[in-house]
Amino acid sequence: MVGIRVVLLGPPGAGKGTQAKLLQERFEACQISTGDILRQAVSEHTTLGKQAAGYISRGALVPDDLIVKMVGERLQAKDCEKGFLLDGFPRTLGQAQSLERILQERGLALDAVLSIEVPQQLIIERLAGRRTCRGCGSLYHLAFDPPKSDNVCDRCGGELYQREDDREETIKTRLSVYENQTAPLIHYYRERGILKPVDGVGTVDEIRRRVLQAVGA
Ligand code: AMP
Repeated sequence: MVGIRVVLLGPPGAGKGTQAKLLQERFEACQISTGDILRQAVSEHTTLGKQAAGYISRGALVPDDLIVKMVGERLQAKDCEKGFLLDGFPRTLGQAQSLERILQERGLALDAVLSIEVPQQLIIERLAGRRTCRGCGSLYHLAFDPPKSDNVCDRCGGELYQREDDREETIKTRLSVYENQTAPLIHYYRERGILKPVDGVGTVDEIRRRVLQAVGA
């Protein structure tokens, strides 16, 4: 297996987490989901979790300095030595510049930034039906990818739950935060010549094939 250094960019509900997990099975790379790390910190009541909880529950972004420090530390772990899949980071221009600096200091660069494109109406449908396993973090959708039995994870038997920020009022805030703060990164990475647009409409498998093609696999 080969390593790969990729950013998955796209609005909430675009399928970044699902595709990152699939790419991880194929490449020698760690998956870094900043949302997962933060939710874990919140549930464990760590200092970071206490700092981040309010931002997450109202759908706002956690301040850049906290996020950049968290990702910088995570990237040093052994399982990220050969490569990484960044899911949900960077989300601001400041974070993108910090990432570039961190990688430059280590003599590294991104291979590709996959921009997963999904129309807004579909995003709302996807987020409203999304369920996550408390045990292993597997992702499901009540209509598009349902578990075999209600609220139970097929893989580990864990309980499935709906993220607090996947409720309709918060979804609207998250979408406008995406448009204002994260969408400008599309231009930023296009200018650097590493942006790969991926059509995010279709089945998980169809999108996986497009993703693999975009990274040249
Ligand atoms: P996600 O699971 O990626 O949708 O992230 C859930 C929430 O965690 C976001 O709505 C933010 O509040 C926070 N978050 C995750 N990643 C970042 C990031 N890179 N920068 C700032 N906040 C983040």
